[in-house]
Amino acid sequence: MARHIYVHNPFCARKCPYCDFYSISKTSLCENFYKAAVREAELLGSVISEQDGTNPLTDACGRDTVYFGGGTPSLPDSRLVCGLLTAVRKAFNIASDAEITIEVNPSSSDPGKLTEYLQAGFNRISLGVQSLDDEVLRTLGRLHDSKGAVDAIEKISKAGFTNISADLITGVPGETLDGIRKDIQTFKDLGVKHISTYSLSIEEGTPFFERYKKTIEDLVPPEEERAMYHGTREFLNELGYETYEISNSALPGFKSIHNSSYWNSCEYFAIGAGAHGYLGDMRYGHRDDVEAYIEEMNTITADAYKAFLEGNKSGLKSLYAEEMLGREDKMREVAFLRLRTTDGILLDEFKKVFGIEFDDVFEKAVKTNIAKGLLERKERTLRLTRSGLDLANVVIEDFL
Ligand code: SF4
Repeated sequence: MARHIYVHNPFCARKCPYCDFYSISKTSLCENFYKAAVREAELLGSVISEQDGTNPLTDACGRDTVYFGGGTPSLPDSRLVCGLLTAVRKAFNIASDAEITIEVNPSSSDPGKLTEYLQAGFNRISLGVQSLDDEVLRTLGRLHDSKGAVDAIEKISKAGFTNISADLITGVPGETLDGIRKDIQTFKDLGVKHISTYSLSIEEGTPFFERYKKTIEDLVPPEEERAMYHGTREFLNELGYETYEISNSALPGFKSIHNSSYWNSCEYFAIGAGAHGYLGDMRYGHRDDVEAYIEEMNTITADAYKAFLEGNKSGLKSLYAEEMLGREDKMREVAFLRLRTTDGILLDEFKKVFGIEFDDVFEKAVKTNIAKGLLERKERTLRLTRSGLDLANVVIEDFL
């Protein structure tokens, strides 16, 4: 049985203008937040049973994983972050071969912190580079420049990490495919094993929405953005990075086990304000409110936490149920999560879990998208074609 835990650090030095993740810059709350998170890990550890944290697709869930995301987990004092990891490992009895990731920002990649992360058990770093072009980084409002990002990768390697991932954002006004290719080549030369490439999305409520809501398609026409996506993917593949999900590519042996657990519908626990989890039939989360989180974790009893996980949601400030999933919801989730992966939907596995053929449930969506050339059947798998990848959201919509 594999366990997966997502920990959300809700602090950032400053808000990037395109970001709609939950984060605040009031770092005076860090100390109390981390204490509360340790208590949450201990409470969870005391109330979960051996069965919790597994799922119908058990074989697909691989090894235990812990993922510290954010926000900027590398911002707070490493004593707090490492203390929380120690509590999580103990409370969940995390296996010694677990994949344990921390997201690091180049502007807070201090060598001393990196060494402490390694000693505490982190064995994978996900670095938020976004670009190695200073002009693009300025547009994105990032705190680091390209030299800072390259230095950060070198420091991470020097500290002893071998499993390093870097994020890139594509479709930023002023960005070119040539520039992205250069960035990827630099990553390869520096020993980066995993690359995530996300298309810039203009989210309502962000400063970017105000700045670009009317102009983004003039600045980066959709066909140019798609050509950039394909060009990026082809170059990654040429360099040996295998694309295993729409936004993720890795050298052999370095796929993210934690992220794969999401696409395999594995269950995972959520720790921290703004964290989301999935357990049994429930998708749940903590509200985007650090103060409510601290208060709740300092006062909630083990019985009340257990009752929440079992479906009693009354009277809680931070924890809330987002969605209760029935059998059909779960089938739809398998469809839209697995379609994001290059392995696609494994038809035998679907039949084994749900006792029915995928085609019998989604007959119309399958037939229509195969006829349009967006979906292809290879033996007992169904996956997006190259054109399907361009229209992934439209295809997925047909399965919802
Ligand atoms: S550092 Fe990351 S999480 Fe924080 S504001 Fe910027 S993009 Fe968002």
